[in-house]
Order: sequence, then structure tokens, then C-alpha cells
Amino acid sequence: MTISCSTTLAHNIACEISANLKHHVKIPSARMLGASFCAVLVMFLIGCHAHVEKTTLPLAVFSGNTMGSTYTVKVVAEHPFTEQGKRAVKDAIERVLADIDIKMSTYRDDSELSRFNAHRDATPFSLSRETLEVLSLSQRISKETDGAFDITVSPLVELWGFGRHKKDEDERQIPSPEEIAAAQTRVGYEKMVIDYDAGTVQKTQPDIICDVGAIAPGYATDKVAEAIQQLGYDNYMVEIGGEVRAHGHNPEKEPWRIGIEKPNPEGRSVQRVVPLTDAAISTSGDYRNYFEKDGKRYSHEIDPRTGRPIEHNLASVSVIAPDCASADAYATALMVLGYEQGKTFAEQHTLPVYFIIRTQEGKFETDESSAFTDYLKRFESAEELSPSPKASS
Ligand code: AMP
Ligand code: MG
Repeated sequence: MTISCSTTLAHNIACEISANLKHHVKIPSARMLGASFCAVLVMFLIGCHAHVEKTTLPLAVFSGNTMGSTYTVKVVAEHPFTEQGKRAVKDAIERVLADIDIKMSTYRDDSELSRFNAHRDATPFSLSRETLEVLSLSQRISKETDGAFDITVSPLVELWGFGRHKKDEDERQIPSPEEIAAAQTRVGYEKMVIDYDAGTVQKTQPDIICDVGAIAPGYATDKVAEAIQQLGYDNYMVEIGGEVRAHGHNPEKEPWRIGIEKPNPEGRSVQRVVPLTDAAISTSGDYRNYFEKDGKRYSHEIDPRTGRPIEHNLASVSVIAPDCASADAYATALMVLGYEQGKTFAEQHTLPVYFIIRTQEGKFETDESSAFTDYLKRFESAEELSPSPKASS
């Protein structure tokens, strides 16, 4: 979606907000990973600032569908793109996405991860380097967060009706404590032994299954970024399912500008603009993918420790990290931890995090970790980064 906001701003301001609408895009046949992508909440902005005559560099934009969602890649070059140059970028993007799909999709039975899930046996199972990387990073973040992040959570995700067999609103039932306890026995990141050198994973409990929907879009974003870098480009932005990684500068030779969305299920508007260069950002939230029963909101983020959807007042959390897989996983993890525990975690791990908290009056408050404040200081000489309230409405 492109919102031209030049009418809502002073005349000399040209602002284009490219809002990331992937989470409204439901493409069942194209669904790749087991993720529900209806919750992510970043937007990328280009040149939302006072208009001065500037030379802009050539920009090529690539977009398409992936992982039940969409992707957008922007590449900046010194010289105008040739058709051949553009084709090389497009091919590289599609190659990477197809490779991750065949390895990690839980929406196709022939993927490597689906075969691993079907392997109900305690013998070691060989996996590709890429899948092992995702599983290893997931396990590390599970340990760091005491199990708040756990890719073996899918029996609970299915039980609450957010999984592959997503339930319609009227079919949804609140599971009984017995059902929750039964599903919890099939959850536990520690029930997988990863032997990175041997290239295998062993299940110590054979019915454990993995769903990497909370980390794989970030991982795919990293891999696409690497592929573009390998083609010789230094300035680009990759966004897949709301996960963003940006390198170098935008066509105006400024940091890329990423909008964190206001947690409003009805519309799309910018809460905060974050400059991004040589880093990644991911946002998780509770306000797009949820259901309501008896006036209570049940989010798709499940706390594996309680077996229940999260119930706290954190509406969204955005994490900046050097790589997008980590940003993606930490955003989910902090969403599960909630504001207080999430803030403590961010301070202890020097993680740049931006929190949007729902107040009892139904309003929103924001907070940020010290590392987030420090991160922004690096861009202090840059121009004003908060959008005009009107521009973002
Ligand atoms: P994200 O949008 O990246 O926060 O990922 C959310 C998706 O991850 C959900 O739709 C579930 O499929 C899955 N998920 C839910 N809770 C967890 C959790 N505690 N750890 C890992 N994945 C989860
Ligand atoms: Mg995530």
C-alpha cells in the first residue's frame, strides 16, 4: 500500500509510506512456513522529510508472495539497472526463498522439516546446514528466555486454533486444562539434541515437532540479504513478512527508515520511525492474529510454560539485532515474556527493544530499552524521525 501523505503535510513535504500489508494477504496455496503472519507490524518509509532538491540514486524494487505473505526488496545502485541486472537480483531472491521453502515449510509434506516432524523415532535425523542453523539459534534463544521462545510449541498453537488447521471463529473453544496439559507433554525444546558437526538432530521424545514460523521469515530475510550482497550491492533493504534487514543507505544516501506500526487492528499507521542500516528489525504483536471469547482476547503468541495465549498488557515489541533471524525470535520471545520481564531481559542482554504497552483505559504507552536509546543516538545528526501525527493517520 502506498499512502501519499503530501496532502496531510505542509506543502513542501513529500512523504511516501509504503505500508507492509502482507498480513492481510492470505494465499493458502502459497503458504510455506507454518507461521501466521497476521501480526507483524513494520512499515518501511522512504524519504519522508522536508523536500529539498537531492539527487537520488537508481532504485530497483522487487516484490512477490512468499510464506503465506509478501516480500519487498529494494536495491540501490550507482548506475541505472539493466534488465539483466534486475533479472539477476530477482532470480537470486526467488532461489533463496524456494530453497528455504523446501527445507523449512510445514505447509508442504515433502519439506525437510515436515519429514523431520514425521520421523517419530529417536534415531538421529540428517538436516541441511540451513535448517540446523535455524534449529540451533532457536534452541539458544529458548535457553536464554527460559523456554518463553520454543519452536516445539505447535501442539499448543494447534490446540488454541492458530495453527495449520486454523479454526473459524465459531468453532473456537477454550481448551480444557486436561487438553492443555496433554499438549504440553509434547512441547520442549530440550527434547531435541542438535549435533551441528554431524549435521543431525535427535529427538529424545519421538513425537516432538517443530514449527519455525516465529524465526524463519527473519532467517529468510538474512539469506536474501546475503544473496544480494553477493551480487555486489551494498545498499538495499529486504522485507519478508514484516521482518526487515537494511544495509547501507536508501536512494537518497540516508539510512533506511522503518515505521513501527501503531497497535491498531483496524488500520495501519506509524507509531515510531526507526532509522536502520546494517541491522535488522522485527516486530511481534498481539493485535492482528487473535480471537475473542466472552470479552477476552486470546493471542496467537502462546506461553509454552502455561500452555496458554499470553495475557499481559504488551501490545507490540520491536527488536533490533545485527541479523534478522535473531530479531524475529527475540521479538516473539519478548512478546511472550511481557513488558516487565521483557524489559529486564532487554537490559540484561543489551538488546535494543521498543515496547508499546496497552493501558487500562485502552490507550497506549511506549517504552524502550537503554540499548534502543543508545542505538538511536548513532543517528542523532539525522533529521527528525517522528512522523507527523497527521501523516500517519
Ligand atoms: P511472530 O509473529 O514472529 O511472533 O511468530 C508468531 C508465531 O509463532 C505464532 O503464530 C505461532 O505459530 C508461533 N509461536 C507462538 N508462540 C510461540 C512461542 N512461544 N515460541 C515460538 N513460536 C511461537
Ligand atoms: Mg518472531
